[in-house]
Amino acid sequence: MESELTPSCALEAQDVRKSYGSVAALAGVELRVEAGACVALVGESGSGKTTLLRCFNRTVEPDQGLVRIKGRDVLRLDPIRLRRETGFVQQEGGLLPHWSILRNAAMVPVLRDMEDAEDRARWALDLVGLPAKEYGDRWPTELSGGQRQRVAIARALASHPDVLLMDEPFGALDAITRTDLHETFAALRDRLGVTVLLVTHDLQEAFLLADRVAVMRDGTIHQLGAPGEIRGEPATAYVAQLVRRARVGEAT
Ligand code: ADP
Ligand code: MG
Repeated sequence: MESELTPSCALEAQDVRKSYGSVAALAGVELRVEAGACVALVGESGSGKTTLLRCFNRTVEPDQGLVRIKGRDVLRLDPIRLRRETGFVQQEGGLLPHWSILRNAAMVPVLRDMEDAEDRARWALDLVGLPAKEYGDRWPTELSGGQRQRVAIARALASHPDVLLMDEPFGALDAITRTDLHETFAALRDRLGVTVLLVTHDLQEAFLLADRVAVMRDGTIHQLGAPGEIRGEPATAYVAQLVRRARVGEAT
């Protein structure tokens, strides 16, 4: 039986569980992301962040629990269509190396048979500061790591998805490039109003970019709150420890 729909809720997980053998990657997760909000999933390696993110585009199928996107149970949606309609950015971008930048950026709209696929790709490349006139004909290897991540973001946005799933999109970048991309990301969110679920292992990054932060450990969410709440009122000793460590990082 389905419980009540919450129209303003873009992403919802209820008691989601997923095990790999004896490892409980997700051990009963509850999460709600309001439409237009950005929630960051933070936690150390192996805490279940990627597994949870992937439940929302059905690249992981939970053993138990309910996962909804825009009020619809993902298990009732066609998985291919769901993946094409949901923006997804991975750590290394995943650009196709033998495709030009413009073709990479147009990939999702082309897959969705959008007639204006190339215009959408140009629009998205403009958004991320890589105008197609200058960058469209280049190859991924001719771009810096930061520029490649910009293309990956453009590719995810080119079909105008309502929901963007990002798995450590800035994790492989140097500090200066990361700061540049943080600014671009914040401006894009303001402009597009897209709902974002952002995985990061960096609490500072989460505080900077997200409206709410979910601290994960061992497949559960220890605390979900605004950055000020997590900082000011850590719910568990683990969260308090992460906050302390992030402060030390800030000072260096
Ligand atoms: P995170 O993204 O926070 O680093 P993951 O969601 O990738 O964590 O992984 C959570 C746990 O599940 C880890 O212990 C990981 O080894 C395990 N795991 C994830 N995916 C698989 C898989 N496909 N097969 C086996 N174990 C997996
Ligand atoms: Mg991960």
